[in-house]
Parts: sequence; structure tokens; C-alpha cells
Amino acid sequence: LKNAIIFSIGNELVEGLILDTNSKYLSEKLKKLGYYVIRIETLPDRFDVLVERFKTGLLEVDLLITTGGLGPTEDDLTREALAEALGRKLILDENIAQELIERALKYYGKAPESVKKQAMVIEGAKVLDNPVGTAPGQMIEFDGKAVVILPGPPAEMIPIFENITEKLKADDALYTRRIKTIGIPEAVLMDDFKDVIYSNPNITVATMASYERGVEVRLTGSKSLKEEIDKIALKLIEALGENVYATDDDNIEDVVYKLLSENGLTISFAESCTGGMISSKFVDIPGVSKVYNGSVVAYSNEVKISLLNVPETIISTYGAVSEECVKFMAENVRRILKSDFAVAVSGIAGPTGGSEAKPVGTVCFAFSSDSFTHTVTHNLRGNREMVRKRSTLLAFDIARR
Ligand code: ATP
Ligand code: MG
Repeated sequence: LKNAIIFSIGNELVEGLILDTNSKYLSEKLKKLGYYVIRIETLPDRFDVLVERFKTGLLEVDLLITTGGLGPTEDDLTREALAEALGRKLILDENIAQELIERALKYYGKAPESVKKQAMVIEGAKVLDNPVGTAPGQMIEFDGKAVVILPGPPAEMIPIFENITEKLKADDALYTRRIKTIGIPEAVLMDDFKDVIYSNPNITVATMASYERGVEVRLTGSKSLKEEIDKIALKLIEALGENVYATDDDNIEDVVYKLLSENGLTISFAESCTGGMISSKFVDIPGVSKVYNGSVVAYSNEVKISLLNVPETIISTYGAVSEECVKFMAENVRRILKSDFAVAVSGIAGPTGGSEAKPVGTVCFAFSSDSFTHTVTHNLRGNREMVRKRSTLLAFDIARR
């Protein structure tokens, strides 16, 4: 497997003024091209630092790719530092200089001497045209390695990078399987199934836990390990059973959508604490109207009573956050909107409003079909946003089961 390092260069990144989205983009793309990104570094616009990091990085990898620091001003030093690290000269490319001057005259009416800085090309480098902005990228190849320097603005960086992806493609591309689970904590999952998960040292294992997506296990290796990776994935899927809600690119809402559309069935939601989040996620799916005609956001007790016909006595006896209440919400929204199934959610998202019996994070769910209604209560951790996102995941989870 080929190794790569990404440098995100710019004082504004190191100082926390802007978020480095370039490295996320590049890392994802490089993986698909068959590179193993061993490291991402965020570096300041400092000549000595950049020279040192270039020298170190070039010893370690097949591809070093940078973004930022190619501008016309004194503080942009990527080009200069790379030339120094490689012991190569910077040569003025008259054609590029001419283009830059014409461009500057056209847009700003004058062309300061500094624009020529962007026309300085490292000895032996291939110039990568920048169709959007001014500073071109550069690519230098030597000893089977490649260094690519790209401008910082994503709108300029991305098209230049896309132009060289064919050239960068490593022979042995990567193969990845993703197994998405809910209901087992990350640490427990990784411990209980470690014999399966880590059975091949050439397969990289990564896990990702989030409130919105549960725990995802990712198995990655070179394409030649495809069968081996599929075998491990299958074993894991079988061992985890119902806890696996999706694999690879599918999300939980996609799974619900597929189950319904394959059977020509429909669903609606009655949302309290999620406030429309479930519906919003669901309609992200193009073509969802086949299985979805609408939902009700019943946030206040009044709306639960007047619109969803939850009996007042249910709310006064058990409270709006109760399995009794969500049961009525689900059954009634299903009838009112004439759907085959319905899911209702009512909970305490916080940060205030909980009680001893029902602390913040108490969320009740109901799933209703024409033959039965099933209810469950979860005690979720986290702030308001986390509780609402987790509730959305759990709403789809109850629907797919
Ligand atoms: P230019 O020729 O446009 O000056 P440059 O290579 O000098 O390009 P920088 O000056 O380093 O680019 O960055 C310009 C802007 O691009 C930044 O202010 C920021 O908005 C954006 N940018 C730079 N690096 C990144 C990054 N890693 N992620 C997201 N945006 C970035
Ligand atoms: Mg800069």
C-alpha cells in the first residue's frame, strides 16, 4: 500500500480562525485512490517549520500533498519552503507571469510586482492549471515519489486535485466494508468480537461512535484482501444479529425506506422532542414520497390532545413523556394520516425540565401497525442536541425492527 501525508498550511488554520476542510476532502479521496494516509499535519506559514516538515515527510511517504500558502503575499511560503527542502531552484515561468499580470490588470487595473511570486515554479515541476483562481498548483516527481502543492481555497484546490486523480491512482486500491450497529457500546462490541475483528493483521480496523449513527466498524485493506474482508464482515454481521442496522453506504433511514418501498407500505411520525428531525432526515431520501405522506410535530400538550386525540386524562395521569402517551400518538397519527405504520417520540431533551422519576434524557417511543403497538423507553445521555439526534436514530431503529 502506498503511504501519504497531507499538510494543511496556513496561520489562519493553526490559529483556529478557519476550519481545515481540505484535509478531510483529500484524505477521503486519497483513500479511494489506494493511499494509506499516515498523518495529517496543520502547519503555520513559517519557512523554517515548513522546510523541516517537508524534509521529514518526504522520507516517509510515496505522496506528500499540501494545501495553502501559494498566494502572492510575503506570508505565503509553501513553494519556497519545498524548493529549499528539495534543494531545487525556483524559476520564473514567463508565460504564467504574463497571464497573471493580464488577469490582474483586467480585474484590478494594476499588477503589483508580487503577482510574479505565483509564477515561480520549482525546477522540474509540472504546473497544475488553476481554472478558478490565480496560483497554479505544482507536482514534482522523483524517486517514485510525488509532491503536490495546491492552493488553499477549497474552490480552487478541488478542481486542480480532480485533474490529477487519474495520475495519482495507486495500483492496489483499497477495499472497505462498513458495519453499522446500534445497541452495543463501542468498547463492549470491540471486546466481545475482537477475535473476529482482529483476525487478520493486514486488515485495518476503525470504529466510529456517534449519537446520530451508533457504532460503525470499518474494515479496510488492499483490494487483494477483498474476500478475506468480506468473510470477516459476514461473520461479524451474523454474530451481531439484530444490532446491525445497515452496512456500507446505507443509513438507517435508507433501510426503513427500502423495507417499506419493497412492500408498498407507508409510514408517518408523531414527533415531540425531535421537533421534525425524524421527518427531515427521512425526506432527505429522494423518492421518499412513495412511502411517506407526512407527519405531525406535536410539541405542546395542547397539540397532542387536539390534533392527535391523546386523551387529556392520559397526559394528566402519566405525563406527555410516557409510553401511554406515545402509544396514542403513534396509533392516532397512523389513522389520521392513513399510513400503514407510525412511530411516535416524546421525551425530555433538556437541559432543564426533568424530574427524579423522569430525568433529562428520558425518551419514550412507540411503533404502531394495524395489528399491534409496541412501546419502549430509553434513558439517553448528553446535551439537548445529542438527545434529539439519538432519539431520531432510535425512532428509525424501532421502525426497521
Ligand atoms: P491564494 O492564491 O488564493 O492566496 P493560497 O494558497 O495562498 O491561495 P491561503 O492563503 O493559504 O491560500 O488560503 C486562502 C483561503 O483559503 C483561506 O483564508 C481559507 O479561507 C481557505 N483555506 C485555506 N486552507 C484551507 C483548508 N485547509 N481548509 C479550508 N479552507 C482553507
Ligand atoms: Mg495563506
